[in-house]
Amino acid sequence: MKLLLIEDERQLSEVLATLLKQQKYAVDAVYDGISGEEYALSGIYDLIVLDIMLPKKSGLEVLRALRKEKIDTPILLLTAKSEIEDKILGLDLGADDYLTKPFATGELLARIRAMTRRKGEFVGDVIAYSDVVLDRSTHELCGGDTAKNKVQLALKEYQILELLLQNSKQIISKERFIEKIWGHDTDAEYNAIEVYVSFLRKKLAAIGSNIQIKAVRGVGYTLEDQL
Ligand code: CA
Repeated sequence: MKLLLIEDERQLSEVLATLLKQQKYAVDAVYDGISGEEYALSGIYDLIVLDIMLPKKSGLEVLRALRKEKIDTPILLLTAKSEIEDKILGLDLGADDYLTKPFATGELLARIRAMTRRKGEFVGDVIAYSDVVLDRSTHELCGGDTAKNKVQLALKEYQILELLLQNSKQIISKERFIEKIWGHDTDAEYNAIEVYVSFLRKKLAAIGSNIQIKAVRGVGYTLEDQL
C-alpha cells in the first residue's frame, strides 16, 4: 500500500508519516499543492491524504484537478473546524471522506484502513489469490491448504508480491515497481527487482504454490497460475 501525504504543517506531516510507516504503508510526503498534484497525477497511490489549506494551490483545487484528470485514487481530506463549507464542497468534488483537525491518529488509521479495503480483493488483513494467502500484517506467505506451508517475506519481497497480487491480470513494468516500492527519488536499480523476484520464486516453490512470477522480456513481470 502506497500513500501520498499532502500536508504543509511539517510537524504533523512527520508524525503522520512515521505512524503510517510503522503500519507498513509506504509514504511519500509533500508540502504544497503544486507538488501534491504532480505526485498524485502519477496514479501510483492507493490513497491520498490531502490537507485543504495548502500553499501554492489549495487542497480543493488539487482535488478538482485530479478528478478532472480521471485520477480516482481515494482521497481523505483534512479540514480545520472552521472550514465546514470547504468540507461539503470537497465531498461534492469527489473526495471520499474527511477528518476534522485536530484528530486522534487512531481515527485516521481506521479511516485509511476502511478506505483502502473498499478497493481491492482484501479479506480482513490478507490477500488471497489462487493457492496462496499473503498476510498483510505479518508478511507471511502461506500455501493454500496447510498452515505448515508458510514462509516469511522480507519487506521488499512482500511489496513486490503485493503489487503483483493486486494487479494479477496485468504486466507490471519495472518502472512501476521502482515507483511504487522505492519511490520517486531513488537510486534503486532494475536488477534489484530481479534479485527480489528470484527470492520470491524460491519461496513460492518452497510452499509448493502453483503460481509463478513470469518475466515478460523487456517489459516487466506478471503472475501465471499453473493450476
Ligand atoms: Ca495546512
